[in-house]
Amino acid sequence: MIGQNTSDTSMTELRERALALLRRFYGYKSFRPGQWGVIEAVMSGRDAVVLMPTGGGKSMCYQMPALLASRGCVVVVSPLIALMNDQVQALTANGIPAAAVHSNNPDSYNREVMDGVYAGKIKLLYISPERLMADIDRWSPDMPVAMFAIDEAHCISQWGHDFRPVYTSLSGLKERRPDVPVLALTATADRLTRDDIVAQLRLRNPYCYLGSFDRPNLTLRAFPNPGPAGRVRYIIDMVRKYPQDSGMAYCLSRKSAETLDAKLRARGIRSCVYHAGLDPAARDAAHKAFLNGTVQVVCATVAFGMGVDKGNIRWVVHNNMPANIESYYQEIGRAGRDGLPAEATLFYSYGDIVTLRQFIAESGRVAVNQEKLRRMDSYAHSRVCRRRVLLSYFSEEAVHDCGNCDICLNPPVRFDGTVLAQKALSGVMRTQASVGVFTLVDILRGSQRQEIRQRGFDRLKTFGVGADLSREEWMDYLGQMIQLGVFEVAYERGNVLRPTPLGMRILRGEEQLELSRYVDPQTAGEHEAARGALAARGADRPVDKALVEYLKGVRKELAAEYGCPAFMIFSDATLEDLARRRPRTMDELLDVHGVGEKKASRFGHRMLRALDAYR
Ligand code: ADP
Ligand code: ZN
Repeated sequence: MIGQNTSDTSMTELRERALALLRRFYGYKSFRPGQWGVIEAVMSGRDAVVLMPTGGGKSMCYQMPALLASRGCVVVVSPLIALMNDQVQALTANGIPAAAVHSNNPDSYNREVMDGVYAGKIKLLYISPERLMADIDRWSPDMPVAMFAIDEAHCISQWGHDFRPVYTSLSGLKERRPDVPVLALTATADRLTRDDIVAQLRLRNPYCYLGSFDRPNLTLRAFPNPGPAGRVRYIIDMVRKYPQDSGMAYCLSRKSAETLDAKLRARGIRSCVYHAGLDPAARDAAHKAFLNGTVQVVCATVAFGMGVDKGNIRWVVHNNMPANIESYYQEIGRAGRDGLPAEATLFYSYGDIVTLRQFIAESGRVAVNQEKLRRMDSYAHSRVCRRRVLLSYFSEEAVHDCGNCDICLNPPVRFDGTVLAQKALSGVMRTQASVGVFTLVDILRGSQRQEIRQRGFDRLKTFGVGADLSREEWMDYLGQMIQLGVFEVAYERGNVLRPTPLGMRILRGEEQLELSRYVDPQTAGEHEAARGALAARGADRPVDKALVEYLKGVRKELAAEYGCPAFMIFSDATLEDLARRRPRTMDELLDVHGVGEKKASRFGHRMLRALDAYR
């Protein structure tokens, strides 16, 4: 069981045993930051809360206790069947007995699993919250539970961005099994949500680990939305840049996901859609095709992602702005889980804000959500290091610019935007503050749209005074002006623009306004490359690229033979380490990152032979 023998010497022994197990079952040499502290806490019977970003290695915090516990299994509560199945598959591949109980399995199978648990044959039991709370009273009192692990624990909180009412029933766990430690894990929670998790799960003096949210391997970028054609071009560039790897394109609606997918396929790109409107079979097929690499791009709504544990996602593009930083951070966190460089690009627009505000108005939790949206909008418009903005959102100190975001790589060029602001302000004044951003842009650019003529806007003095700028440029500059407080948007009155006192002073020439030059996403990369930033990032890895490609081929053959996704055989990071170390013997092979005994005995000979052949 868990919770006995907590003297110092026994903890040292425990740590040694844990390290041996880590090596044997996973092929890892050391714990990641935070992991051991949490394992130690729960092994001594204490409750714990773990906040680690996606890819930080949360699952080890409950998998290792399952291996260490002398008796009983760890019960893992997980919200998604796909997530459970992936984890069970990955554990089984490492030779660790795990199983999932859920409604997609036949009853007979679920019963068999439970028999295995009672018999002590299963170390990790994955289960949905509904199922757990329905079954727990029927479990016999000697059902050996070593620990409860609550994954995605933020779902329990109203303050979180992803509240799920069924999670609240988990507050009954402590009452049912007061002696069993509870471990709550999440990748996303601000302070309020964190405190709420502790309160609702009735945790007693929990050990808390707040991991760093920094993901230095992710290059962060945000651009004003370049329109549908520009977005497609950008995504095609990504696919060309990473021809062997995959990426995700998040869309705001099912329809836009489908349109994008159709356009990509028309250009010969292996793409698929994923959204909540698909039937379960189609969703499952899309999920599988993406995991095993038959499709390279998934065009998805936010319905996609929770279950995605794929190491080699090299890029994530958001075609629209997410509603809050928590979601955004979680979605981009799916890229670069193997620790190798990956890119996250956000396209934002004023239109997104309007749409999201409408959703929020209908959401019931208006104040919390509006504040979250406001913070997201500031991130998009940030003219300071984006990583610093993100980290400070999660209450983490960041005192240095990161050098790996668009602001650091390609600092915004400032210019005197007073005249632009005056044109916009005067346009608004002449319509008696009766237009929103879109109409204003039409007026400034001299659009011949029927509504413009019907409302007599083509006779205004400001009609066409901004025709020298593109639509995208105007949208960007007006967005900046709103951010800087030149205009207010009357969201409650058809989103019309109203000049603020600051705006009025600028209009009268009493105040200047500095803006940042519009950046075209397509050419932004060239500027960065010119600065040598991209070149430098690739050069610090002295890996034989051709060998890695060759090993990927071997991995693909193995995947086909074993009928499982390639990354389950070995991750990209493992292949890179193989290429770097070029082991000749089984012992040397076991030194490679991500190669444990089980995988060494299953695939080792093939890999060693392949390396030989390559030599
Ligand atoms: P999270 O659940 O926090 O998103 P995971 O638990 O899925 O992250 O871990 C992400 C990846 O890191 C997995 O491939 C996992 O095997 C790997 N990992 C976990 N712990 C370690 C470790 N101590 N050393 C090396 N890799 C690790
Ligand atoms: Zn930066």
